[in-house]
Amino acid sequence: MTILIAGGGLSGLSLVAHLVARPEPRGPIVVVDDGRRPLATAGWAFWSAEPGLLDEAVSRTFDRFHVHAAGRSRIVGLGRYRYRFVRGDDLAAAVGKAAERRGGVRFRSGRVTEIRQAGQGAEVVVDGESLRADWVFDSVFRPGPSRVDGWLIFRGWHVRTAEPAFDSAVPTFFDFRTSQERAASFVYVLPRGPQEALVEHTSFAPPHSRGVARPKEQRSALREYLASTLGVREYSVTREESASLPLSASAVDRRRGSILAIGSKAGLVKASTGYAFRRIQADSAAIARSLAAHGHPFDLPKPKPRHLLFDATLLDVVAGDPAQLERVFAALFDRSSAEPVLRFLDEDSSLPQEGKLFARLPPSLYSAVRRRHR
Ligand SMILES: Cc1cc2nc3c(=O)[nH]c(=O)nc-3n(C[C@H](O)[C@H](O)[C@H](O)COP(=O)(O)OP(=O)(O)OC[C@H]3O[C@@H](n4cnc5c(N)ncnc54)[C@H](O)[C@@H]3O)c2cc1C
Repeated sequence: MTILIAGGGLSGLSLVAHLVARPEPRGPIVVVDDGRRPLATAGWAFWSAEPGLLDEAVSRTFDRFHVHAAGRSRIVGLGRYRYRFVRGDDLAAAVGKAAERRGGVRFRSGRVTEIRQAGQGAEVVVDGESLRADWVFDSVFRPGPSRVDGWLIFRGWHVRTAEPAFDSAVPTFFDFRTSQERAASFVYVLPRGPQEALVEHTSFAPPHSRGVARPKEQRSALREYLASTLGVREYSVTREESASLPLSASAVDRRRGSILAIGSKAGLVKASTGYAFRRIQADSAAIARSLAAHGHPFDLPKPKPRHLLFDATLLDVVAGDPAQLERVFAALFDRSSAEPVLRFLDEDSSLPQEGKLFARLPPSLYSAVRRRHR
């Protein structure tokens, strides 16, 4: 069985890791990437309660985080969960090592310009050359979810300060002490040490914003947060990153013949959080399992309708009234342990557990969920 993976970013590399971790399927695997999103500057944070296949690539682990909403600051423990961070380079090194042990995996640099069904398999055009494979996994082309329910617009600064300014052991999951005037916004801080951190301004914006960022306002909000909230006087910005992620709470039609969309193109970015790392791991594991068991990659778990419903409702409510996001986060995280919320966001919670969480939500969101559910 020959496999071609278009795009060697998070989903492409994760799929390689899960494929080579099994004795089956055998056969060559080719990964093609043109380097437009360099791994050297990529990194992903995620939470998990169990060990994962790629834990070797984790460089930072936290057991609590700081939250600030509705005028209250607190440090919340994560219970069984840990919040972890993986650098792109470390991910590539871990996957590269596993691929070398198995053999038969080729990482090729090149631009994919076309992916099409061809007979029983598929054909991928790379820098003008046609490559054939039995199965093609596409993280570059498929347009992704057809419906956009909102946007996550963020701009982050990698900051180095002259004096210690960050708590190295505690990231800030969200801090709403930033203007809410144009969109529901918060600041996220991922420390690297007492004098180094990623400080990121994040907004949930409605679908009609079309993901258009306002760099001037985002930078001014970051400056204001560093100066007024953190009291940092002297700092340098070593790197800036920004993105507008489309958020969709609809299931995506991922399959076309022998071609399967993966990663964000498969709708794996969770619409209410913008996180995808763990979902991509679960999806990669399911694809590898399906290939080994059935010789095809389509025996995958279906998205859970009630979680899609919650995500859609949250985005809807926040689009209509941005101030609701802070109220929802304040209500959900007003507890000593974030474990029940993280379990819910991972879509691993039971109905009674969700009932208890929802009982704390602002009545407007609770009734919006009920309205949609009818
Ligand atoms: C800046 C940013 C930060 C994020 N941070 C987090 C986070 O901390 N935690 C989390 O869970 N989620 C995060 N996400 C959401 C999600 O996890 C990422 O978008 C993730 O990288 C999605 O994986 P992917 O494989 O779909 O896309 P990517 O990782 O972007 O991989 C796609 C790959 O395809 C390559 N490529 C694109 N077009 C072509 C082409 N035509 N030919 C060849 N190669 C091509 C690119 O170079 C890239 O390597 C973040 C998203 C962004 C944009």
